[in-house]
Amino acid sequence: MKLKCLGAGQEVGRSGILIKTDNENILFDYGLKLHPKFKNQKNKNLSEKYKIEEEYTEEPLKIKEHLDAVILSHAHLDHSGDIPSLYKKGDPNLFLTEATLELSNLLWLDTLKIAKYDDKEPPFNKDEIKFANKAAFYLNLRETIEISKYSRLTFYDAGHISGSVISILETEGKKIMYTGDIRSEKSTLFKGFDRNLPQVDILITESTYGNKNHKSRENLEKELISEIKETIENGHKVILAAFAIERTQELIALLDKYKINAPIYVDGMGIKASRIFADHKEYLNDLKSFKKALDRTELITNHRTRKDILRTPEPAIIITTAGMLEGGPVMLYLKEFGNNKDNKLILTGYQVDGTNGDRLLKTGKLYIDKELYKINCQIKHVSISAHLDQKELFELIDIVKPKKIICVHGDSKTIEEFRKEINKKKIENIAPKVGDIFDI
Ligand SMILES: [Zn+2]
Ligand SMILES: [Zn+2]
Repeated sequence: MKLKCLGAGQEVGRSGILIKTDNENILFDYGLKLHPKFKNQKNKNLSEKYKIEEEYTEEPLKIKEHLDAVILSHAHLDHSGDIPSLYKKGDPNLFLTEATLELSNLLWLDTLKIAKYDDKEPPFNKDEIKFANKAAFYLNLRETIEISKYSRLTFYDAGHISGSVISILETEGKKIMYTGDIRSEKSTLFKGFDRNLPQVDILITESTYGNKNHKSRENLEKELISEIKETIENGHKVILAAFAIERTQELIALLDKYKINAPIYVDGMGIKASRIFADHKEYLNDLKSFKKALDRTELITNHRTRKDILRTPEPAIIITTAGMLEGGPVMLYLKEFGNNKDNKLILTGYQVDGTNGDRLLKTGKLYIDKELYKINCQIKHVSISAHLDQKELFELIDIVKPKKIICVHGDSKTIEEFRKEINKKKIENIAPKVGDIFDI
């Protein structure tokens, strides 16, 4: 049996792991990697236009083999984003949870919308999204099914977002675990990953934070809440820039848990995603309190309301979609909102180097409509992670006791340091680069 790394080899983004057995080819995830849209002005030279074009979105390597099945771990773009492309020529069965398909459909349609807006060629079209939906088979948590004559598949809750799973594929007498993205600690919304896991032969694991340990979740939540309170208690406004899937819902739950007393608005794709989260209670700690928190929010769907909210004298909290300030409704607020030094913008997610969010944190400036703006409001970064840190990764390793570990979904320096720790435990380990193929 062989493994081919099609993406997320010593990088984060465009996950794609192909398992080639004697009888079939099975793929874990097929995501997209987004590159920063705006470049620093000093880099503007002749080759720039070409470069932006080339790096707009990066797909995993193409699959030349006949593909029998695809297993999708969760709906985040770096895992699900390119799945419809697999239906250009092939028609593989698609195994996933119902919540994952619903959330993925949101993102796939959004990819088409953004490409149209940016005047770029999308990686797939509407028909291919339809074919992916037709090929879908839902699995429930802890249910084992035969996905072919040769292989069995079981899903366990990964605790990362609604619908996210750890997969165990049993084929050719081996148990292969693919973590996707996985969360350990209980959060306001999620339970953390299912510890009731069997031992496996091969562990293919995310390594996002393989070289560090997080601050405790509780401390981060308190830090975030005190930043928010400080501003609204002084009568001003807070924008929480958040990824649409998971972070937006986690913030809605958190503001309710700490009984924040100000109107809460939600803008962008996070609205639809929140409804999907509320439809799938099996992934949540407490559906009732999430629904109650959701009922407290007001949804913003047009630009007039955005302007009205900014111009009211009262304090307000706006949770708006834009993880790294690369686009989305947050951009519609920033010019006006950013002029008031008493307002506060809080970035709640990881900021990739070179993105608008990263630029804002380092220089106080960002691009809006391709023009560089100085932002005068207060800017904070409190990233509440939904991934395992090093200590938690080793907790997982201790539970499933793999004979071999394959480290993916982490940058090369992080993975190198993670592997040093794995070596101390004397477990065979590999960190493939994109394009590598080897026996497992
Ligand atoms: Zn994820
Ligand atoms: Zn990921």
